[in-house]
Amino acid sequence: MNNSIKTILGIKDPYLKLDEKNFDNPIEDQPNQIIVHLIQTYPMHCPKCGHLMCKNGYKTVNCLGPELHFKPTIWSIKKQKYICKASSSCPEVVTKLAAVEDIHYRNHISLAIKQQAMMLLTKNESQSDLAKELNVSDWTIRRVITNLDQFFKPNYYWLPRHIAFDDFKSGRFAPSGMSMILMNIENKRTLDIILSRKNSYLRKYFLRYDRSARLAVQTVTVDLYTPYRHLIHELFPHALIIADHFHIVAQAYRAFNKIRIQVMNRAGAGTHKWRALKLFWKLLLTPANELKYDNYWSSHSSSSKL
Ligand SMILES: [Zn+2]
Repeated sequence: MNNSIKTILGIKDPYLKLDEKNFDNPIEDQPNQIIVHLIQTYPMHCPKCGHLMCKNGYKTVNCLGPELHFKPTIWSIKKQKYICKASSSCPEVVTKLAAVEDIHYRNHISLAIKQQAMMLLTKNESQSDLAKELNVSDWTIRRVITNLDQFFKPNYYWLPRHIAFDDFKSGRFAPSGMSMILMNIENKRTLDIILSRKNSYLRKYFLRYDRSARLAVQTVTVDLYTPYRHLIHELFPHALIIADHFHIVAQAYRAFNKIRIQVMNRAGAGTHKWRALKLFWKLLLTPANELKYDNYWSSHSSSSKL
């Protein structure tokens, strides 16, 4: 099989091939799904006696592969069965089944789809939306999150100049229910997933990085959650803290709202000022150049002019 087809399909296993012998069209494009017929066979040695095992038919296994043309894609894999008959050097019959590198044993979702899920986790999407997008169960997404630790092998002697971290809901797998994602701002790549966002945990985590790596960090982009600020100064003494745009707007909105309610209450419930501030809070948030001064709507005929 042509290497570019393998790349498109997301296959890394060197033995896994399109089953062109048994299917005229091994990539079957059906209305609701795509079926990719694959075959996996390679010479296997007996784990007991070390002799080359006899090929003994196939077992077809279906698993979910990465999506093609926005359709759920099923990998139907004919896996070679092997047998080593009992002999003097091999007292018992040994049977084996060909393994596929892209799929973990007893795990019917290919590795490529898991990697796709990890990349998508950096977007602000719920776990269930993500599950729907990838045609897998919520449970799979949760398992991907739990196993993230094994996938990222961070280099503790290097950090990019510009990093960012943000928390995301990771459910009951993290001790606090919230985890942190550590990103390289320049290429928007995920560097690591930090299981807990607790200060003590983060501190311990970042201290694993070499001091020279931490000194090289020039900016850290974070939300305005205050406990982190001291920690960042301590861990990255040369870095400027940049507040995430979204969090600034949210913070400003909350502060503004607090003042609006204070003024309302000072005016007293039911007064003209109180009603105006309560009913027309949206106008206060509208940019001045978008306000219309030439139209006036009265909320009811009896209401006083505002
Ligand atoms: Zn044997």
